Amino acid sequence: MTLIRSRRVVLPNAVDPASIEIHDGRIAAIHAYEYSASTTIDAGDNFILPGLIDTHVHINEPGRTDWEGFHTATRAAAAGGYTTLVDMPLNNLPATTTVENLRLKQNAARGHAMVDYGLWGGVVHDNACDILPLASAGVLGYKCFLAHPGIDGFSVVNRAQLETAMPLIAEAGLPLLVHAELPGPIDQATAQLEAARCDWKRYATYLASRPDAAEIEAIRLMIELSRKHRCRVHIVHLSSAEALPDLQAARAEGLPVTVETCPHYLYFAAEDIADGATLLKCAPPIRSHTNRERLWQALLDGGIDLIATDHSPCPPDMKTHAQGSFLEAWGGIASLELGLSVVWTEAQQRDIAISQVVRWMSGEPARLAGLDHRKGAIRAGNDADLVVFDPDRKRQVDPMRLQHRHAITPYAGETLAGIVETTFVRGEKVFDRGVFASQPKGIQCSRA
Ligand SMILES: [Zn+2]
Repeated sequence: MTLIRSRRVVLPNAVDPASIEIHDGRIAAIHAYEYSASTTIDAGDNFILPGLIDTHVHINEPGRTDWEGFHTATRAAAAGGYTTLVDMPLNNLPATTTVENLRLKQNAARGHAMVDYGLWGGVVHDNACDILPLASAGVLGYKCFLAHPGIDGFSVVNRAQLETAMPLIAEAGLPLLVHAELPGPIDQATAQLEAARCDWKRYATYLASRPDAAEIEAIRLMIELSRKHRCRVHIVHLSSAEALPDLQAARAEGLPVTVETCPHYLYFAAEDIADGATLLKCAPPIRSHTNRERLWQALLDGGIDLIATDHSPCPPDMKTHAQGSFLEAWGGIASLELGLSVVWTEAQQRDIAISQVVRWMSGEPARLAGLDHRKGAIRAGNDADLVVFDPDRKRQVDPMRLQHRHAITPYAGETLAGIVETTFVRGEKVFDRGVFASQPKGIQCSRA
């Protein structure tokens, strides 16, 4: 039996001094701080958080391990306080759109993950017959794109294809995660910018090419289809606060629609992005300062459920070869290891409590992925996924010290608050002040 304790344990309803008793990888009981055992790890005044869960990560393996991989991504996760990742079905090759392809990803992951992981399946134009078999094979839900994902190999779905897929997804009882931008407004805006010979090295050009309307119209379509098919819909990486009223109305109506946003939309603002700064290219784009504040307000109001990183690295030359052109650079932000510190830095400036951050980054993601029967809270019976977090120490981000595959991130040089000291996955210490466990023991998670 091991006991991990601190003066500030982030429990479901309070932040209290407590001792967490661990047996066989599970939380056996929660005792008063003074409780003692032969093996006691005392984290002092540091927070003990439930392990964070990132439901939006592009690990890119198999097939694009030169972009990222299970070894590097899960080390970045452990160092950043994430104890579970849920991997997206695209950018890896082949895409996770059939059971056969799912097996290839499971084989790539097995024995290489420092933290636990789950897998999303893909919904593309022609794989309706794979939807139910993928559920039986263990995917936690599905991801689809309404606009081109920036790389070939994962096709978009149109309304007709969604009408076929969504009843099957509803039958499986799983969520459909949607990249909610429609191509119409993007194509129209891009054509106008091209006609005006706009400079693609200017961030303003890129921002104008992905208007709010693309998100709003996509979200309206998904709300309509969720209502029709009673299918759970999760809007990934919401960027436009303009879409919030429609989402709020859908939820008030009782539709099963949830929403995530990402650390970069909560940290950066368009007004501050330098021309040519393509490390900050992502889709949908980082919008205005005012928009950012509205996203924070929506998190507090419950209009946005959770924060996921959309960690999507690539080889450095895919960001730089474009020589500052936002049209040509790869769209994706590498941030996994920094997600907690980024959100905590901004939360502190807004007087937001750690328990809120934990709800957005652990409790709600667990619910989305169907893992809340054993993860997402410090509660007796749950997996002992625990993070010792020093909320006060600050650091300046040095990309060379990050664990993900390539030493690039738009947070380079930023000063962030909060350091992950130690990370436990199912009771085993996987990261401790820069040192990793010798053996990766992460396993695939399944639903209850
Ligand atoms: Zn993504």
